[in-house]
Amino acid sequence: MTRGELLAEARGMLRGAGNESGDADARILVAAALEITGSQLLSRPEVEVSAELTQRARDWIARRAGGVPVARLIGTREFWGLPFALSPATLVPRPDTETLVEAVVEARPDRNARLRILDLGTGSGCILLALLSEYWEATGLGTDLSEEAVATARFNAEELGFADRAFFQRGSWDEGLSERFDVVVSNPPYIPSSTISSLDVEVREHDPALALDGGADGLEAYRALAALLPARLLPNGVAALEIGIGQEAAVGALMQARGFDVTARRDLAGVTRVLVLSRLSE
Ligand code: GLN
Repeated sequence: MTRGELLAEARGMLRGAGNESGDADARILVAAALEITGSQLLSRPEVEVSAELTQRARDWIARRAGGVPVARLIGTREFWGLPFALSPATLVPRPDTETLVEAVVEARPDRNARLRILDLGTGSGCILLALLSEYWEATGLGTDLSEEAVATARFNAEELGFADRAFFQRGSWDEGLSERFDVVVSNPPYIPSSTISSLDVEVREHDPALALDGGADGLEAYRALAALLPARLLPNGVAALEIGIGQEAAVGALMQARGFDVTARRDLAGVTRVLVLSRLSE
């Protein structure tokens, strides 16, 4: 079998399964299974493929047709232009969350600033490591309840060359910390428990519940964050929190009650996705 024949077979299978992005998914999965780039796949379709790699490609395509996300199959996802390894304990990084990185970069335009950054519920480490890629003098600490997520974030820090500036520890939010930070970021779980079952199958079956479940009203994590932020942020520090659709008023009120000035930022879809917090007294 040639690369081209394998790709045609994969496209046919995904189209047949009603996959809206079937052609693109087929290209990504076949190239990844053959360990070549997408352009190598398209420019040299006549190259013969070994039985072993054909088998891997067919296996991934069958699982994709069954609803497994592409990122879970190939084990990585790009975020802020960097590749992140994933594990079952981490969310697949979302393009929406790049809005959070943008918000910090806009609030702190000096790229040489020696910022100390705290990421609460770091998952794959994507937010923290994206920020370290922008601030060359910054150091970062990421925490997560999941030991497996912490291991994945450490792996990503090493792979991306940030191991000397990025530290990770297991714990609940800021458990065990006493220092204050210039920047605190978080993409906490914010989906109300009762609505998780109605999320898209790719999210509900493949993203970890711990990273999604925000309790009965979806706001549990923000209550914890509101309580801890006053002691974790330096007086002139800035915090940026991802929020779910429609949570701006409720989360904003929780933060204003702790003395923070709150500004909102929309994602590419026009949804208010991030709240930026600073001290009112500034
Ligand atoms: N953005 C995710 C979703 O919509 C939720 C992530 C989260 O709870 N932080 O599925």
